[in-house]
Amino acid sequence: MDTLAHAPHAGNLFIIAAPSGGGKSSLVAGLLRNDPSIHLSVSCTTRAPRPGEQDGREYHFVTPEAFEAMRESGELLEWAKVHGNHYGTPRRWIQSAMSEGRDAILEIDWQGARQVRQHFPSAVGVFIVPPSIEVLEERLHRRGQDDPQVIARRLVAAGGELAHAPEFEYVIINQEFSVALQELETIIRASRLRYASQSARHAELFAQLGILNDGH
Ligand code: 5GP
Repeated sequence: MDTLAHAPHAGNLFIIAAPSGGGKSSLVAGLLRNDPSIHLSVSCTTRAPRPGEQDGREYHFVTPEAFEAMRESGELLEWAKVHGNHYGTPRRWIQSAMSEGRDAILEIDWQGARQVRQHFPSAVGVFIVPPSIEVLEERLHRRGQDDPQVIARRLVAAGGELAHAPEFEYVIINQEFSVALQELETIIRASRLRYASQSARHAELFAQLGILNDGH
């Protein structure tokens, strides 16, 4: 287990999960546009790039062999098989973000979220749901980046992902983009004001004020 995870650190870790078509990536993109102090972790995946995706930007696209080697050598903080492909979060990137006090965001599935919580119990989990199953289906079709078989598989998987919403602290119903984005920003702001985060970020002030930092 990471010792770092249990030391007080000023960086907040956010986990955002949703079924595909839930609108997670657009919301996270909006969040990062408005607040450049949050950093998005770029995962490794064995899935093929979609049109317009760039290696190192949306994902690090790797071969199954390279992924396996990273997994074996402990380079991944968490990993999971999702829709038939492997995905994982590079460990070193998260560790340096946290130790340097940077806020980081992970766009990962529920299996990954469970593993991350074991290392970072104070990570804040946000689950994004579509306003209806019909809207979810429409969004998957509209995206037009996957073939019909892939879309059908993802719809079935959506049910499985949604069943894990209760494991997350916050739920956003993504009906209207601007409202959902405001809600996500509200969660981020409130999380930054948690005692553990404030006392790590303002250690000197807390010491001056005689507030004990008990490391929680
Ligand atoms: P997509 O292929 O549509 O980009 O992503 C498919 C699913 O994989 C999404 O639910 C996404 O959140 C999840 N995912 C992406 N990166 C990671 C990762 O590093 N770890 C885990 N566990 N899931 C990931």
